[in-house]
Amino acid sequence: MKTMVHAACPHDCPDACGVLITVEDGRATRIQGDPNHPVTRGFLCAKVAKYLDRVYSPDRVLYPMRRIVTKGAASTKRSEVWQRITWDEALDEISERFRSIIARFGSEAILPYSYGGTLGALNGASMDRRFFTRLGASELERTICSSAGEAGLESVMGVKLGTEPDQFVHSRYIIAWASNIHGNNVHLWPFIVEARRKGAKLVVIDPYRTRTAACADWYLPINPGTDGALALAMMHVIIGENLHDPDYVAKYTLGFDELREKVKAYPPERAAQWTGISADDIRKLAREYATTRPAVIRVNYGVQRSEGGGMATRAISMLPCITGSLKEVGGGIHLSTSGAFDLNKSALRRPDLKAPDAKTPRVVNMVELGKALNTLSDPPLKGFVRIQFESSSSLSKL
Ligand code: SF4
Repeated sequence: MKTMVHAACPHDCPDACGVLITVEDGRATRIQGDPNHPVTRGFLCAKVAKYLDRVYSPDRVLYPMRRIVTKGAASTKRSEVWQRITWDEALDEISERFRSIIARFGSEAILPYSYGGTLGALNGASMDRRFFTRLGASELERTICSSAGEAGLESVMGVKLGTEPDQFVHSRYIIAWASNIHGNNVHLWPFIVEARRKGAKLVVIDPYRTRTAACADWYLPINPGTDGALALAMMHVIIGENLHDPDYVAKYTLGFDELREKVKAYPPERAAQWTGISADDIRKLAREYATTRPAVIRVNYGVQRSEGGGMATRAISMLPCITGSLKEVGGGIHLSTSGAFDLNKSALRRPDLKAPDAKTPRVVNMVELGKALNTLSDPPLKGFVRIQFESSSSLSKL
Protein backbone atom coordinates (compact mmCIF):
# COMPACT_ATOMS: atom_id res chain seq x y z
CA MET A 1 0.00 0.00 0.00
CA LYS A 2 1.27 3.48 -0.87
CA THR A 3 0.65 6.50 1.35
CA MET A 4 1.91 10.06 1.53
CA VAL A 5 2.97 11.31 4.94
CA HIS A 6 3.15 15.04 5.67
CA ALA A 7 6.08 15.80 7.96
CA ALA A 8 8.28 18.68 9.05
CA CYS A 9 12.05 18.74 8.80
CA PRO A 10 13.43 18.30 12.33
CA HIS A 11 16.69 20.17 11.79
CA ASP A 12 17.54 23.34 13.64
CA CYS A 13 17.11 25.51 10.55
CA PRO A 14 15.02 28.65 10.03
CA ASP A 15 13.46 27.29 6.82
CA ALA A 16 11.40 24.76 8.85
CA CYS A 17 10.57 22.85 5.69
CA GLY A 18 7.40 20.96 5.00
CA VAL A 19 8.30 17.45 3.85
CA LEU A 20 6.31 14.86 1.93
CA ILE A 21 7.31 11.23 2.40
CA THR A 22 6.02 8.43 0.22
CA VAL A 23 5.63 5.21 2.20
CA GLU A 24 5.16 1.90 0.40
CA ASP A 25 4.43 -1.23 2.38
CA GLY A 26 5.82 0.33 5.55
CA ARG A 27 9.03 1.60 3.94
CA ALA A 28 9.75 5.22 3.02
CA THR A 29 10.60 5.29 -0.67
CA ARG A 30 10.70 8.99 -1.52
CA ILE A 31 11.26 12.27 0.29
CA GLN A 32 10.45 15.62 -1.26
CA GLY A 33 9.75 19.22 -0.35
CA ASP A 34 6.12 20.19 0.11
CA PRO A 35 5.11 22.35 -2.88
CA ASN A 36 2.40 23.97 -0.77
CA HIS A 37 4.73 25.09 2.01
CA PRO A 38 5.28 28.85 1.57
CA VAL A 39 9.04 28.70 2.15
CA THR A 40 9.96 25.17 1.01
CA ARG A 41 8.10 25.58 -2.28
CA GLY A 42 8.72 22.00 -3.39
CA PHE A 43 12.42 21.45 -2.84
CA LEU A 44 14.67 20.35 0.00
CA CYS A 45 18.27 21.19 0.71
CA ALA A 46 20.91 18.69 -0.45
CA LYS A 47 21.32 17.34 3.08
CA VAL A 48 17.70 16.38 3.65
CA ALA A 49 16.94 15.41 0.05
CA LYS A 50 19.22 12.39 0.70
CA TYR A 51 17.73 11.60 4.08
CA LEU A 52 16.41 8.17 3.21
CA ASP A 53 19.94 7.05 2.35
CA ARG A 54 20.79 7.61 5.99
CA VAL A 55 17.56 6.24 7.44
CA TYR A 56 18.22 2.93 5.69
CA SER A 57 22.00 3.04 5.80
CA PRO A 58 23.66 -0.17 6.97
CA ASP A 59 25.95 2.11 9.03
CA ARG A 60 23.09 3.49 11.09
CA VAL A 61 23.38 2.62 14.77
CA LEU A 62 20.19 0.88 15.81
CA TYR A 63 21.32 -1.09 18.86
CA PRO A 64 23.49 -0.48 21.92
CA MET A 65 27.13 -1.01 21.08
CA ARG A 66 29.95 -1.38 23.58
CA ARG A 67 33.46 -0.24 22.73
CA ILE A 68 35.78 -3.19 23.16
CA VAL A 69 38.98 -1.53 21.97
CA THR A 70 40.66 1.28 23.87
CA LYS A 71 40.23 4.71 22.31
CA GLY A 72 43.16 5.57 20.07
CA ALA A 73 44.11 1.94 19.42
CA ALA A 74 45.24 1.07 15.91
CA SER A 75 42.24 -0.97 14.79
CA THR A 76 39.90 0.91 12.47
CA LYS A 77 37.46 -1.84 11.57
CA ARG A 78 34.14 -1.06 13.18
CA SER A 79 33.45 -4.72 13.93
CA GLU A 80 36.69 -4.87 15.90
CA VAL A 81 35.97 -1.72 17.88
CA TRP A 82 32.30 -2.17 18.74
CA GLN A 83 30.35 -5.12 20.03
CA ARG A 84 26.59 -5.28 19.97
CA ILE A 85 24.99 -5.76 23.39
CA THR A 86 21.38 -6.04 24.50
CA TRP A 87 19.33 -3.11 25.78
CA ASP A 88 19.24 -4.74 29.23
CA GLU A 89 23.01 -5.03 29.29
CA ALA A 90 23.41 -1.42 28.21
CA LEU A 91 20.92 -0.07 30.74
CA ASP A 92 22.41 -2.17 33.54
CA GLU A 93 25.90 -0.98 32.73
CA ILE A 94 24.93 2.68 32.53
CA SER A 95 22.92 2.62 35.75
CA GLU A 96 25.67 0.73 37.55
CA ARG A 97 28.24 3.34 36.49
CA PHE A 98 25.94 6.22 37.45
CA ARG A 99 25.28 4.66 40.85
CA SER A 100 28.93 4.18 41.53
CA ILE A 101 29.78 7.78 40.51
CA ILE A 102 26.93 9.20 42.58
CA ALA A 103 27.87 7.11 45.62
CA ARG A 104 31.43 8.36 45.52
CA PHE A 105 31.14 11.92 44.22
CA GLY A 106 27.45 12.90 44.19
CA SER A 107 25.05 13.49 41.29
CA GLU A 108 26.72 16.68 40.12
CA ALA A 109 29.72 14.63 39.04
CA ILE A 110 27.57 13.65 36.04
CA LEU A 111 27.15 16.07 33.14
CA PRO A 112 24.84 15.61 30.14
CA TYR A 113 26.18 17.16 26.95
CA SER A 114 24.01 17.80 23.93
CA TYR A 115 23.02 20.45 21.46
CA GLY A 116 21.20 20.60 18.14
CA GLY A 117 21.19 18.23 15.24
CA THR A 118 18.12 16.29 14.40
CA LEU A 119 15.86 17.51 17.08
CA GLY A 120 12.46 19.09 17.37
CA ALA A 121 11.25 20.29 20.74
CA LEU A 122 10.13 16.89 21.96
CA ASN A 123 13.05 14.80 20.78
CA GLY A 124 15.79 17.33 21.38
CA ALA A 125 14.98 18.64 24.84
CA SER A 126 12.42 16.85 26.91
CA MET A 127 12.94 13.34 28.29
CA ASP A 128 16.69 13.75 28.71
CA ARG A 129 16.16 17.01 30.63
CA ARG A 130 13.62 15.35 32.91
CA PHE A 131 15.92 12.44 33.61
CA PHE A 132 19.00 14.49 34.46
CA THR A 133 16.96 16.99 36.48
CA ARG A 134 15.61 14.17 38.58
CA LEU A 135 19.07 12.68 38.89
CA GLY A 136 20.44 16.00 40.17
CA ALA A 137 23.19 16.07 37.56
CA SER A 138 25.15 19.20 36.69
CA GLU A 139 23.24 21.38 34.26
CA LEU A 140 24.57 22.32 30.86
CA GLU A 141 24.41 25.89 29.59
CA ARG A 142 23.91 25.33 25.86
CA THR A 143 25.79 28.26 24.36
CA ILE A 144 27.82 26.79 21.56
CA CYS A 145 25.83 28.12 18.65
CA SER A 146 23.73 31.20 19.03
CA SER A 147 23.34 32.52 22.60
CA ALA A 148 25.39 35.69 22.22
CA GLY A 149 23.67 36.76 19.00
CA GLU A 150 20.25 35.99 20.37
CA ALA A 151 21.01 38.02 23.49
CA GLY A 152 22.13 40.90 21.24
CA LEU A 153 18.96 40.74 19.17
CA GLU A 154 16.68 40.39 22.17
CA SER A 155 18.33 43.28 23.97
CA VAL A 156 17.10 45.51 21.14
CA MET A 157 13.87 43.89 20.02
CA GLY A 158 12.75 42.20 23.21
CA VAL A 159 11.92 39.06 21.24
CA LYS A 160 13.60 36.68 18.82
CA LEU A 161 11.64 37.70 15.79
CA GLY A 162 12.63 38.78 12.32
CA THR A 163 11.47 39.50 8.82
CA GLU A 164 9.71 36.46 7.33
CA PRO A 165 11.62 34.90 4.43
CA ASP A 166 8.83 35.45 1.91
CA GLN A 167 8.91 39.19 2.64
CA PHE A 168 12.35 39.47 1.09
CA VAL A 169 10.72 39.43 -2.31
CA HIS A 170 9.51 42.97 -1.58
CA SER A 171 12.91 44.25 -0.47
CA ARG A 172 14.80 46.79 -2.56
CA TYR A 173 18.06 46.71 -0.63
CA ILE A 174 19.26 43.43 0.89
CA ILE A 175 22.30 43.15 3.11
CA ALA A 176 23.61 39.62 3.68
CA TRP A 177 25.74 40.21 6.76
CA ALA A 178 27.94 37.20 7.47
CA SER A 179 25.31 35.14 5.72
CA ASN A 180 26.08 32.76 2.88
CA ILE A 181 22.47 32.59 1.76
CA HIS A 182 23.18 31.01 -1.62
CA GLY A 183 25.02 28.12 0.03
CA ASN A 184 23.34 27.67 3.40
CA ASN A 185 19.93 29.31 3.44
CA VAL A 186 18.65 27.84 0.20
CA HIS A 187 14.97 28.63 0.60
CA LEU A 188 15.61 32.32 1.18
CA TRP A 189 17.68 32.57 -1.99
CA PRO A 190 14.78 32.27 -4.53
CA PHE A 191 13.03 35.19 -2.82
CA ILE A 192 16.19 37.24 -3.20
CA VAL A 193 16.54 36.22 -6.85
CA GLU A 194 12.98 37.41 -7.41
CA ALA A 195 13.63 40.68 -5.56
CA ARG A 196 16.76 41.29 -7.64
CA ARG A 197 14.82 40.64 -10.82
CA LYS A 198 12.63 43.53 -9.75
CA GLY A 199 15.65 45.74 -9.16
CA ALA A 200 16.80 45.02 -5.59
CA LYS A 201 20.48 45.41 -4.76
CA LEU A 202 22.28 42.66 -2.87
CA VAL A 203 25.18 43.71 -0.66
CA VAL A 204 27.33 41.11 1.10
CA ILE A 205 29.42 41.90 4.18
CA ASP A 206 31.63 38.94 4.99
CA PRO A 207 35.31 38.28 5.70
CA TYR A 208 35.14 35.33 3.35
CA ARG A 209 34.24 35.56 -0.34
CA THR A 210 31.35 33.11 -0.17
CA ARG A 211 29.23 31.88 -3.05
CA THR A 212 26.76 34.62 -2.10
CA ALA A 213 29.50 37.25 -2.10
CA ALA A 214 30.62 36.10 -5.54
CA CYS A 215 27.23 36.90 -7.05
CA ALA A 216 26.43 40.05 -5.03
CA ASP A 217 26.01 43.50 -6.55
CA TRP A 218 28.48 44.78 -4.00
CA TYR A 219 30.79 42.72 -1.84
CA LEU A 220 32.42 44.32 1.18
CA PRO A 221 35.13 42.14 2.73
CA ILE A 222 35.37 42.95 6.42
CA ASN A 223 38.01 42.05 8.96
CA PRO A 224 36.73 39.29 11.28
CA GLY A 225 35.29 40.51 14.58
CA THR A 226 34.81 44.13 13.47
CA ASP A 227 31.12 44.05 12.52
CA GLY A 228 30.13 46.12 15.56
CA ALA A 229 32.42 48.94 14.47
CA LEU A 230 30.85 48.97 11.00
CA ALA A 231 27.31 49.11 12.43
CA LEU A 232 28.27 51.96 14.78
CA ALA A 233 29.88 53.90 11.94
CA MET A 234 26.80 53.37 9.76
CA MET A 235 24.66 54.79 12.56
CA HIS A 236 27.13 57.69 12.88
CA VAL A 237 26.47 58.56 9.24
CA ILE A 238 22.72 57.89 9.27
CA ILE A 239 22.03 59.93 12.40
CA GLY A 240 24.65 62.59 11.58
CA GLU A 241 23.09 63.18 8.14
CA ASN A 242 19.51 63.01 9.47
CA LEU A 243 18.73 59.93 7.41
CA HIS A 244 17.01 58.23 10.32
CA ASP A 245 13.24 58.15 10.74
CA PRO A 246 12.50 60.57 13.62
CA ASP A 247 8.82 59.73 13.71
CA TYR A 248 9.47 55.98 14.04
CA VAL A 249 12.25 56.57 16.54
CA ALA A 250 10.01 58.77 18.70
CA LYS A 251 7.10 56.37 18.63
CA TYR A 252 8.77 52.99 18.92
CA THR A 253 12.26 53.24 20.40
CA LEU A 254 13.93 54.05 23.70
CA GLY A 255 17.36 55.48 24.31
CA PHE A 256 17.86 57.26 20.98
CA ASP A 257 19.49 60.33 22.52
CA GLU A 258 22.09 58.16 24.26
CA LEU A 259 22.70 56.27 21.03
CA ARG A 260 23.15 59.51 19.11
CA GLU A 261 25.85 60.56 21.60
CA LYS A 262 27.48 57.12 21.56
CA VAL A 263 27.86 56.83 17.77
CA LYS A 264 29.50 60.26 17.52
CA ALA A 265 32.66 58.47 18.64
CA TYR A 266 32.61 56.16 15.59
CA PRO A 267 33.17 58.18 12.40
CA PRO A 268 33.78 56.08 9.27
CA GLU A 269 37.48 57.00 9.26
CA ARG A 270 37.87 55.36 12.67
CA ALA A 271 35.84 52.27 11.76
CA ALA A 272 37.81 51.93 8.53
CA GLN A 273 40.96 51.21 10.52
CA TRP A 274 39.32 48.24 12.21
CA THR A 275 37.07 46.91 9.48
CA GLY A 276 39.35 47.30 6.46
CA ILE A 277 36.42 48.93 4.62
CA SER A 278 37.18 52.41 3.37
CA ALA A 279 35.46 55.40 4.96
CA ASP A 280 33.94 56.28 1.58
CA ASP A 281 32.42 52.81 1.27
CA ILE A 282 31.05 52.95 4.83
CA ARG A 283 29.37 56.29 4.02
CA LYS A 284 28.01 54.95 0.75
CA LEU A 285 26.67 51.82 2.47
CA ALA A 286 25.00 53.81 5.25
CA ARG A 287 23.40 56.25 2.82
CA GLU A 288 22.16 53.57 0.45
CA TYR A 289 20.82 51.44 3.29
CA ALA A 290 18.98 54.34 4.92
CA THR A 291 17.48 55.80 1.75
CA THR A 292 16.49 52.72 -0.28
CA ARG A 293 13.15 51.36 0.89
CA PRO A 294 12.38 48.70 1.94
CA ALA A 295 15.82 47.60 3.16
CA VAL A 296 16.41 44.34 4.98
CA ILE A 297 19.39 42.77 6.74
CA ARG A 298 19.91 39.02 6.86
CA VAL A 299 22.48 38.73 9.62
CA ASN A 300 23.77 35.34 10.59
CA TYR A 301 25.57 33.75 13.49
CA GLY A 302 29.09 34.29 12.23
CA VAL A 303 28.94 37.82 13.65
CA GLN A 304 28.42 36.59 17.20
CA ARG A 305 31.18 34.00 17.13
CA SER A 306 33.93 36.40 18.05
CA GLU A 307 34.83 38.49 21.04
CA GLY A 308 32.14 41.14 21.50
CA GLY A 309 29.93 39.31 18.99
CA GLY A 310 26.80 39.72 21.08
CA MET A 311 27.29 43.49 21.17
CA ALA A 312 28.03 43.53 17.44
CA THR A 313 24.72 41.78 16.76
CA ARG A 314 23.10 44.28 19.10
CA ALA A 315 24.51 47.22 17.15
CA ILE A 316 23.44 45.71 13.81
CA SER A 317 19.94 45.11 15.21
CA MET A 318 19.60 48.83 15.95
CA LEU A 319 19.98 49.81 12.28
CA PRO A 320 16.39 49.00 11.21
CA CYS A 321 15.14 50.64 14.41
CA ILE A 322 16.62 54.01 13.56
CA THR A 323 15.73 53.91 9.86
CA GLY A 324 12.22 52.66 10.68
CA SER A 325 12.52 49.87 8.12
CA LEU A 326 10.88 47.51 10.59
CA LYS A 327 7.55 49.08 9.71
CA GLU A 328 7.81 48.16 6.03
CA VAL A 329 6.92 44.90 4.31
CA GLY A 330 10.26 43.66 3.04
CA GLY A 331 12.18 45.70 5.60
CA GLY A 332 13.68 44.87 8.97
CA ILE A 333 16.21 42.31 10.05
CA HIS A 334 16.32 38.53 10.17
CA LEU A 335 18.51 36.60 12.56
CA SER A 336 16.01 34.22 14.06
CA THR A 337 12.25 33.83 13.99
CA SER A 338 12.08 31.18 16.69
CA GLY A 339 10.41 33.59 19.12
CA ALA A 340 7.30 33.43 16.91
CA PHE A 341 6.26 30.19 18.58
CA ASP A 342 5.54 30.48 22.25
CA LEU A 343 6.48 26.97 23.31
CA ASN A 344 5.83 25.92 26.86
CA LYS A 345 9.32 24.55 27.43
CA SER A 346 8.69 23.85 31.10
CA ALA A 347 5.94 21.42 30.16
CA LEU A 348 8.46 19.52 28.06
CA ARG A 349 11.48 19.73 30.34
CA ARG A 350 9.68 19.52 33.68
CA PRO A 351 12.07 21.35 36.02
CA ASP A 352 9.57 20.54 38.78
CA LEU A 353 10.78 16.94 38.71
CA LYS A 354 13.81 17.96 40.75
CA ALA A 355 13.95 15.88 43.92
CA PRO A 356 12.29 17.88 46.76
CA ASP A 357 15.41 18.02 48.92
CA ALA A 358 17.89 18.51 46.07
CA LYS A 359 19.99 21.66 45.91
CA THR A 360 20.10 23.75 42.76
CA PRO A 361 22.72 22.04 40.61
CA ARG A 362 25.74 23.86 39.29
CA VAL A 363 25.76 24.98 35.68
CA VAL A 364 28.57 24.17 33.26
CA ASN A 365 28.92 26.34 30.16
CA MET A 366 29.40 23.98 27.25
CA VAL A 367 32.00 26.18 25.55
CA GLU A 368 34.15 25.84 28.67
CA LEU A 369 34.02 22.09 28.80
CA GLY A 370 37.79 21.66 28.79
CA LYS A 371 38.12 24.07 31.69
CA ALA A 372 35.32 22.30 33.58
CA LEU A 373 36.95 18.91 33.08
CA ASN A 374 40.27 20.19 34.29
CA THR A 375 39.30 22.49 37.11
CA LEU A 376 36.01 21.43 38.70
CA SER A 377 36.73 19.70 41.95
CA ASP A 378 33.70 19.82 44.16
CA PRO A 379 32.85 17.33 42.82
CA PRO A 380 35.00 16.70 39.74
CA LEU A 381 33.22 15.65 36.55
CA LYS A 382 33.31 11.88 36.44
CA GLY A 383 30.42 10.91 34.18
CA PHE A 384 30.04 12.61 30.85
CA VAL A 385 26.95 11.71 28.87
CA ARG A 386 27.06 12.73 25.27
CA ILE A 387 23.63 12.62 23.73
CA GLN A 388 23.17 12.62 19.99
CA PHE A 389 19.64 13.12 18.82
CA GLU A 390 19.89 11.45 15.49
CA SER A 391 19.84 7.79 14.76
CA SER A 392 21.17 6.95 18.15
CA SER A 393 22.16 8.11 21.57
CA SER A 394 25.66 7.39 22.62
CA LEU A 395 27.04 7.26 26.09
CA SER A 396 30.61 7.50 27.08
CA LYS A 397 32.33 7.62 30.40
CA LEU A 398 35.37 9.68 31.23
S1 SF4 B 1 16.62 23.69 4.36
FE1 SF4 B 1 17.09 21.52 4.76
S2 SF4 B 1 17.64 21.45 6.95
FE2 SF4 B 1 16.57 23.40 6.60
S3 SF4 B 1 14.44 22.97 7.14
FE3 SF4 B 1 14.68 22.68 4.90
S4 SF4 B 1 15.09 20.53 4.62
FE4 SF4 B 1 15.45 21.00 6.80
